[in-house]
Amino acid sequence: MMEPEEAHPMLEFEYAHYEVDGPVAIITLDRPQAANAQNDKVLRELDECWMRAEEDHEIKVIVLRTTGKHFSSGHDMGPKDPDFYEKIRDVELLYDRETRGYLHYAKRWRDVPKPSIAAVQGKCVAAGLMLCWPCDLIVAADNAEFSDPVVFMGIGGGVEYQAHTWEFGARKAKELLFTGGSLSAADAERIGMVNKVVPLEELESATLRLAHQIAQQDSFALRMAKRSVNQTLDIMGFGAAIEHGFDLHHYGHARSLTLGSRPTTSGLEDMKAKNRDA
Ligand code: ZN
Repeated sequence: MMEPEEAHPMLEFEYAHYEVDGPVAIITLDRPQAANAQNDKVLRELDECWMRAEEDHEIKVIVLRTTGKHFSSGHDMGPKDPDFYEKIRDVELLYDRETRGYLHYAKRWRDVPKPSIAAVQGKCVAAGLMLCWPCDLIVAADNAEFSDPVVFMGIGGGVEYQAHTWEFGARKAKELLFTGGSLSAADAERIGMVNKVVPLEELESATLRLAHQIAQQDSFALRMAKRSVNQTLDIMGFGAAIEHGFDLHHYGHARSLTLGSRPTTSGLEDMKAKNRDA
């Protein structure tokens, strides 16, 4: 067991920070200039923060937040190293890359045995959902909007962590995937996808208040409460559905590679333009 003074130091990475507020760990994704778009480094740094929070015995609750106007615009669609394009042209390498680089992170964060709360503001697009959905609770600012417009890219089943049906409900999941539309904070609260909606300026204080309220409970009881709900979802098929959704997602990637390009790149350009203008 680590000594608290060893376990507590802050972590300061390029894009992710870890700090401690009493029994609450605060993980911050700090890439506002790119609307908190996720590249490999962002995700590796976030994972280090999650693992620190997990192993720190003084920490009882984890808060995940991001800086700037938008929670996250999803995966970084900007220019990449030439070797990235080489890698994603290979179906097997791409499958492996997204398994280890995306799916495993989301699953691991979901099952960290401590309550976690995401604080979401502005747009939460596509892989942005893979940051907040693994959290146990979501507090949304009144300007939050949730969407996954990947059908525009010719990918049918949504992002690599296909929790849409569980999070949105079947009909809303289909509507959002079919239309590329978005769900407002108020609607997300109404369908139970977020726990509460607060004015934007109160997002941080409301999230921390909730975290500290939960942190007053017994750690092991919290751990078992979380496990009971997550295990129930797994018995209902959640884990298997996530794996199946990932494979369908990769069927979409493989199809795009077979066709030589994404089937609807114009849709992707529209999507990027929309996010830029927002
Ligand atoms: Zn993918």
